[in-house]
Amino acid sequence: MKNATINLLNLDRAGLERLFVDMGEQRFRAEQAMKWIYGDLELDFSQFNNFSKVLRNNLTETCTLKLPELLNESKSVDGTIKWLLKVDDVNAVETVFIPEKNRGTLCVSSQVGCTLNCTFCATGAQGFNRHLSTAEIIAQVWVAAKQLGHHKNNRVITNVVMMGMGEPLANYENVLPALNIMRDDLGFGFANRRVTVSTAGLVPKIDQLNQDADVALAISLHAPYDDLRNKLVPVNKKYNIETLLRACKDFIRDKRKARITIEYTLIDGVNDHKEHALALCRLLKDLPSKINLIPFNPFPGSLFKQSKADAIEQFKQICMKNGFITTVRKTRGDDIAAACGQLAGEFMDRTRRSSQVNKLQLELV
Ligand code: SAH
Repeated sequence: MKNATINLLNLDRAGLERLFVDMGEQRFRAEQAMKWIYGDLELDFSQFNNFSKVLRNNLTETCTLKLPELLNESKSVDGTIKWLLKVDDVNAVETVFIPEKNRGTLCVSSQVGCTLNCTFCATGAQGFNRHLSTAEIIAQVWVAAKQLGHHKNNRVITNVVMMGMGEPLANYENVLPALNIMRDDLGFGFANRRVTVSTAGLVPKIDQLNQDADVALAISLHAPYDDLRNKLVPVNKKYNIETLLRACKDFIRDKRKARITIEYTLIDGVNDHKEHALALCRLLKDLPSKINLIPFNPFPGSLFKQSKADAIEQFKQICMKNGFITTVRKTRGDDIAAACGQLAGEFMDRTRRSSQVNKLQLELV
């Protein structure tokens, strides 16, 4: 049986069309399947009542619609919800829903752990185990939709951000079909600009994404100088700030009104001085961008501290005076360890990175 292990959640519309055509079926079966899976949140082939009995049986025998197991749901006092999803016997990842007045943002993970080793991030400190499959990525949206009662006439989730565990562009092959399903009208139907890919700066993949998917881009910058960024986001040694900003400019060229979101985690005494803010504004002056300041969220074992309230305010004022739309990300869900940089999931590390992270932190505090 050639399709014996195919989980249909791994396939975007083009992939499903190929599958059905290979089965000797009409291409439009892909659209019908997507309506069931993402519109009706129906994963039982026997319920696909516009499919012939033969086709339903055939699907049951050769394909699956398999979700990760929901291990835990935690709710914060502020309404933030975190789900822990078991993706295999030793690995679980986290997905977070952040409700606000006029929107609901779902923060999705792309890897079990991360290889990038950013000094201030809990995920990095945990090490890396493996990439998530497309199915495991899109299933996070599926499970959240199911748990929240989200559907076409009750759009509880309005935005998806690839800002959970992992570096989405390091798992490009699996992330791209998931981005397609998120934005497909027969998938979850999110508008292009409401699906954001956040990256620490894998430049060749930013260029690739620019060709393949019209999504919003966020850059985890965190420092205006290469020597400091090398220590906070070590992948900067490979793709420095200048190269990264060139890729950002290419990314939004020809996209009307688009802006790159610049994420900047504020760490006490490390990157939060007035001079850093001024240098950041100089750096971004030719890039249509908005600045999102994230007060550092501590995690077990980290040596950094959150910037003081007046340093955060001063940083924000400088950015605003220089004409940038600047927001300070509210810390959400920290009572359930669901805030930025706190997502760790549960998994077997195969890299033993945590000791290196602490060493780099020591150089900075
Ligand atoms: N790898 C991607 C996706 C992770 S996004 C990226 O780097 O963009 C998570 C966001 O939270 C990033 O901007 C990251 O830099 C930020 N972050 C990580 N750890 C943090 C912490 N401890 N406190 C505040 N923000 C953090």
